[in-house]
Amino acid sequence: MEEKRKTDFIRDIIESDLASGKHSEIITRFPPEPNGYLHIGHAKSICTNFGIAEEYRGRCNLRFDDTNPVKEETEFVEGMMEDIRWLGFQWDELHYASDYFQKMYELAVILIEMGLAYVCDLSAEEIRNYRGTLTEPGKNSPYRDRSVEENLDLFRRMKEGEFPAGSRTLRAKIDMASPNMNMRDPAIYRIVHHSHHRTGDSWRIYPMYDFAHCLEDSIERVTHSLCTLEFEDNRPLYDWYLEKLDMFRSRQIEFARLNLNYTVVSKRYLRRLVEENFVDGWDDPRMPTLCGMRRRGIPPEAIRKFCSVIGLAKRNSTVDIALFESCIRDELNAKAPRVMSVIDPVRLVVENYPEDRTESFDYTVNPEDESQGIRKVPFTRELYIERGDFMEDPPRKYHRMGPGREVRLRYAYLVTCTGFEKDENGRITEIRCVYDPESSGGNAPDGRKVRGTIHWISSENAREAEVRLYDRLFAQENPLKTEEGGDFTDSLNPDSLKVARGCLVEEHMVSRPGGYTCQFERHGYFCVDPESTPERPVFNRTITLKDSWARQQKR
Ligand code: ATP
Ligand code: MG
Repeated sequence: MEEKRKTDFIRDIIESDLASGKHSEIITRFPPEPNGYLHIGHAKSICTNFGIAEEYRGRCNLRFDDTNPVKEETEFVEGMMEDIRWLGFQWDELHYASDYFQKMYELAVILIEMGLAYVCDLSAEEIRNYRGTLTEPGKNSPYRDRSVEENLDLFRRMKEGEFPAGSRTLRAKIDMASPNMNMRDPAIYRIVHHSHHRTGDSWRIYPMYDFAHCLEDSIERVTHSLCTLEFEDNRPLYDWYLEKLDMFRSRQIEFARLNLNYTVVSKRYLRRLVEENFVDGWDDPRMPTLCGMRRRGIPPEAIRKFCSVIGLAKRNSTVDIALFESCIRDELNAKAPRVMSVIDPVRLVVENYPEDRTESFDYTVNPEDESQGIRKVPFTRELYIERGDFMEDPPRKYHRMGPGREVRLRYAYLVTCTGFEKDENGRITEIRCVYDPESSGGNAPDGRKVRGTIHWISSENAREAEVRLYDRLFAQENPLKTEEGGDFTDSLNPDSLKVARGCLVEEHMVSRPGGYTCQFERHGYFCVDPESTPERPVFNRTITLKDSWARQQKR
């Protein structure tokens, strides 16, 4: 099925700019700050920026917005590049805001020369007090009327590192009475004595986001600078700088950020989960980071599909994570090969099956995709089944195994339970059954009805593995909304990870590479953990087959 061409308010603007000849080529950019790993919220921005560039045969740059040396690291730069490629996108040009530090400095000097910027000696607190409020105008800084010469001299000395951190700022001279707080003489440069991950100790002053971002866009001739709604009130300032400096006019357009229930999408909070060891690193499979989702086995196609389905809007809202989960299931259902696994095994002995015999049965690799074909699975006298598929004294509606009951061993035979053994703790150690030799393939010769079908593994084909059963990281719909005095970590789901050891998987599974995705029949979708080895195989549950969560909550 061909996907319908997307329309939304941003694409409308772009189409009209192309039609009117305002632009002949569309240039967008994705501008992350390298202060953590990318998350599902960023995926929306990536799909939007790269997606639009692709659709309109334009270009999309990757630009690291590395203007704050205190929080940024090279590790994050590399992680982000890997994640963007994994998601399926490739940038045209690669830039760093720090590449423009000299140019930005020169542009700030021009603003000073035009009388549009001044060095201010007020402390951060004084600046706050002078700024006024939403209902009251601010007051002019006593340093506002410094001469151009004095400003140029002080600014140069700020740059040379003569003054202590935080002691002075360079500010734009706009309007302390503006109803838009962002226009009340915003800071352009601040003094920070901290090594930068790329420029080292060359700079002692760093540009503020609002000044830097529009210049970066303009220098790269970005036609449409797409960002999230929080920046709406910064747009007049974005336009002010470009207008005063008479530069290429990039156009900022804001769209709603992605919020997902049962999730937090902000590096600030995700960082705390990592630093305070609530999770096992940025790539913990429970994290909504791209690296976490990769390790969890979520296909990048599912993330792109999700971003396409939610679309672009002008109003913030919260998306139900069930929608994301259904995109994941759809994708995996179509592509993932099926295999048999037993998470909590108990031995099943087929008493009337010869000990020295092995048969192979045809196993449909993926009923949704014939091209994946058929493979063979061995059947022997000794098998393993799921402990939960047997009940000593089952109720009538239980269609799995119980004394005297007949069930289907998927793709193999119909078997009838003849007995079982228990240990001294009452735990079942072995189940016995007889098979109907006429039911090869699992079909009753006389058409008798057998409701239950269970999965199994032959002891000949079974290998031990660790299975990590992941669930949602948060138990609360809005993790950030906590009781008074509470913390978002109170919302964590205590059952977000259960580790099952001594599980059995088919032999061919233990040598699959990290990231290999499959469906464990009846259990859900799983992938091979990157640290899995044939000697110590580890599988991560990506997602269950159905939404057991919602049902569980209703109980
Ligand atoms: P965080 O709070 O997680 O650090 P951020 O917006 O500060 O997010 P940046 O690295 O500055 O992170 O973001 C890069 C780009 O991704 C920006 O254009 C930003 O608007 C966009 N982005 C970040 N979070 C979301 C989100 N939840 N939905 C849509 N876009 C987002
Ligand atoms: Mg940020």
